[in-house]
Amino acid sequence: MKLEVIYNRPHLLESFVYCKRRFYLNAINIYNSDDKLIRLGKVYHDQKQQKVECLIKIDDFSWKKGYILEYKKNKISKPEILQTYFYLKLINQYNKRIKRAKITSIEKHKVIWLEYPDEEYENELERIFREIENMKEIPPRKPRKYCKNCSLYDYCWVSE
Ligand code: SF4
Repeated sequence: MKLEVIYNRPHLLESFVYCKRRFYLNAINIYNSDDKLIRLGKVYHDQKQQKVECLIKIDDFSWKKGYILEYKKNKISKPEILQTYFYLKLINQYNKRIKRAKITSIEKHKVIWLEYPDEEYENELERIFREIENMKEIPPRKPRKYCKNCSLYDYCWVSE
């Protein structure tokens, strides 16, 4: 798979960390929409006409203080941390003043600070990017604890 996918749609990084199959399916535009499975042919058709744009979804910025802010309702998960770090890295390329990210868990009253650059996260991203580049086909399904809440549950686990 081409690495542009992750740079054009950086929000897919979190999917990759949760489930490589979900990442792959989302990357080729297969989502479950209104419980109706989107047909592959239609997806490819739409994809050709789609404008590519970089989707960075950040809750807030503090330009003055040089950080981005993310709010999570509950526990802050590892994929969410890595996702925020990736946004921070991308935003830093456009504005060198943004060097930190603050993630706040509203219910847990917890705050995590991230700094760019961070060697550990950079190595983790490099490893993930290598894996993405080597992806040749849809990874096989594997039962996971979050399958039941995944929008692609029907696609993976419900047969006729
Ligand atoms: S249902 Fe499970 S295996 Fe299928 S894409 Fe979702 S998380 Fe991955």
